[in-house]
Amino acid sequence: MKTIDNYNFKNKRALVRVDFNVPLDNNFNITDDTRIRAAIPTLKKILNDGGELIIMSHFGRPKNLPETKFSLIHTVPLLSELLGRPVQFAKDCIGAATRTMAANLKPGEVLLLENVRFHAEETKGSDSFAKELASLGDVYVNDAFGAAHRAHASTTTVAKFFPNDKMFGYLMAHELESIDKLLKQYKKPFTAILGGAKVSGKIAIIANLMDKVDNLVIGGGMAYTFVKAKGGNVGSSLVEEDRIQTALQIYEEAGKKGVNLYIPTDTVVADAFANDAGRKTCDINNIPDGWLGLDIGPASERQFGAVIEASSTILWNGPMGVFEMSNFEHGTRAIADAVVSATQKGAYSLIGGGDSVAAINKYKLTDKVSCVSTGGGAMLEGLEGQVLPGVKAVEESVEKIPE
Ligand code: AMP
Repeated sequence: MKTIDNYNFKNKRALVRVDFNVPLDNNFNITDDTRIRAAIPTLKKILNDGGELIIMSHFGRPKNLPETKFSLIHTVPLLSELLGRPVQFAKDCIGAATRTMAANLKPGEVLLLENVRFHAEETKGSDSFAKELASLGDVYVNDAFGAAHRAHASTTTVAKFFPNDKMFGYLMAHELESIDKLLKQYKKPFTAILGGAKVSGKIAIIANLMDKVDNLVIGGGMAYTFVKAKGGNVGSSLVEEDRIQTALQIYEEAGKKGVNLYIPTDTVVADAFANDAGRKTCDINNIPDGWLGLDIGPASERQFGAVIEASSTILWNGPMGVFEMSNFEHGTRAIADAVVSATQKGAYSLIGGGDSVAAINKYKLTDKVSCVSTGGGAMLEGLEGQVLPGVKAVEESVEKIPE
């Protein structure tokens, strides 16, 4: 893997694509700075080498026009604090004024470019726009794992203008290694825990893991489709009628391949989709009419926990219940604790994609598992076995340098 590790940035203008797409409150304060902090080791390495740093990112989903709430200027104070130096801000990511600012940078100085998505050409992956971005730097570093599944100008197209000087930052390298550990270097027993709302979003991952895992643990809203497929009564629980056949196929394939498929046996049900609703625990196959399952029950927690604790490789994607509501988070918390405990015993654990990442952060267990991915969609596509365009663009050699 081509990473920044073996590269000396002294007197080089490094154009670095990061993912600073952080959430803001109504007063433009950053409410979760994880993504900015995650990019700091790469940025510091370049500065410590004596490089000149040009940072670019997308921010939210503007409609191709500048909008205050999507301006990266809101990240300048924190970035400056974390890097321990001033950060210059270019009001546009391309154009003559920006080129001048980039050209005038001195070693150790930092320039943050305005949101690349203020130009429609970004998401179109435009060649001419990418070429303008490329003109700002001598070397391209991609550290935006969260955007690696997008074939956009600043994540993908731009790389071809640096045929010999393109590489991954530390965050990107770490995330790619974790995918590799899961898909290629896994140690058995290998357990995948899948939860969250829907079966539909997880089918491709299940298909890609079926030949590798020993245990497939299913929880969350998607479990009720599996229960219904086998004739259980799930009351008013979430069910994807059009995925019942898929669930049956997964049962069948798991049987053929010798994969242990664990579906919850008991569930915590509620008489409304609300934290203060009436609730009780019942057999998952006999949910009374009018009640809906919002969490796994204690017997399932124990069974899943034992499987997880005996595993050497663990993937966790998706909560076991509606963990955002305190009365229905017990199962998710129990699984988080089991993953931590297995990790302490030497297992490799990856928390990948979406809401299980939110859960592990909520329980402040981030440092107690092997890897918590910063990229939702990118991690899912990586685990599905797809080639990420942003990764391919850095890895592939360019035969012909574009005009
Ligand atoms: P996903 O994005 O597919 O991983 O789904 C995550 C969401 O699934 C979270 O917001 C959970 O609240 C929700 N969820 C988990 N379990 C259930 C359930 N039993 N019923 C409805 N929603 C659920």
